[in-house]
Amino acid sequence: MSNINKQQLREAAQQCSAQEPLRIVEYHGKMCLRNSGGIVFTVLRDSSFPEYSSENENYARLAELSTPDTMLALLDELEAAEKRIAELERGSKVIKCWSCQKSVTVDQVTAEDGFCPSCNCGIDLEDYETAELVAAGIITKVGE
Ligand SMILES: [Zn+2]
Repeated sequence: MSNINKQQLREAAQQCSAQEPLRIVEYHGKMCLRNSGGIVFTVLRDSSFPEYSSENENYARLAELSTPDTMLALLDELEAAEKRIAELERGSKVIKCWSCQKSVTVDQVTAEDGFCPSCNCGIDLEDYETAELVAAGIITKVGE
């Protein structure tokens, strides 16, 4: 999933979104993908090579179903799911209370309005995130 260039796919779908989606038609014995503007692609089918013809027809059916609106909807769903996963991962992250040293999740601290559910001391979640960035080598010290 990570090697999909979502931005490139989104831009390509947006460039085609004003056009009518392609549909498969038979035209003079040829399989074609067309819209109201005319034939966009002709699917090569050679009776001498039925396996290649079959592959080309499969691609044509995939292209017919891969409309710009479908691509954009899938990208939107994917990005919403990735965002939700990130939120859930952040919320279930376990941190150690600076005061009582007990393990608590970010969600537990958030539910207690920023206080430790065990000892009721204030916990600044941004301090923990900054410490994590320093530990990961993303920043070298607070404020950078
Ligand atoms: Zn505590």
